[in-house]
Amino acid sequence: MDEKYLLGKFDPADDSNFVLVDKKYTSDARDIYLRKEVYEAFIQMHEDAKKDSIILLIVSGTRTYEYQKKLWEDKWFGYTFVNNKDLYLAVPDDLERTKEILKYTAMPGTSRHHWGTDIDINSVEIEYFQTDYGKLVYNWLQNNAEKYGFCEPYTDFDSMRPYGYEPEPWHWSYYPLAKLILEDYTKTIKFYMMIDFAGFEFFNKLEIIDKYVLGINPKCK
Ligand SMILES: [Zn+2]
Repeated sequence: MDEKYLLGKFDPADDSNFVLVDKKYTSDARDIYLRKEVYEAFIQMHEDAKKDSIILLIVSGTRTYEYQKKLWEDKWFGYTFVNNKDLYLAVPDDLERTKEILKYTAMPGTSRHHWGTDIDINSVEIEYFQTDYGKLVYNWLQNNAEKYGFCEPYTDFDSMRPYGYEPEPWHWSYYPLAKLILEDYTKTIKFYMMIDFAGFEFFNKLEIIDKYVLGINPKCK
């Protein structure tokens, strides 16, 4: 696969492999794009979940490199607060701050959201998944998502997933496609392809590809 695609350096609106998600499947009015086969699988899952009184809405789909770079740097420089804190002031050491942001946010060029195979469902707040309804949603996904090709990359830490991002019950990946992309990614992508964002100098030290990109639930590989 093309290096630009793997890194999110393209516009999904101009790519015929991608489709715009109908607003009835999204949580707000923003345009969300997905790979066609992922969208079709999601629609099936959405319709079947609805029969069980579970509403699944997409809050995030494909993200470009530029989008992820802004997301990352806004946290790095304190424009976006993390846990109600301006991390730029609260964690002045650059390496420590980078590690803190990496709990939930990928460095640009390393997010599975670049590929159009991964979606965040209903909310990216852990509190949502602790509510009664949030628990029902998560249970339904755990019991059913696999039938539609979706797996959960960021499960709880254990011996099978000892490192990587914190658990993300909202993040689901269409693995028939994503696992092929991941194979290509690990063969193709090198550190020097991403050296234009704050904190990039810790990429190798923190073993971003081995520990984060590959630090996923083995069922998704
Ligand atoms: Zn996500």
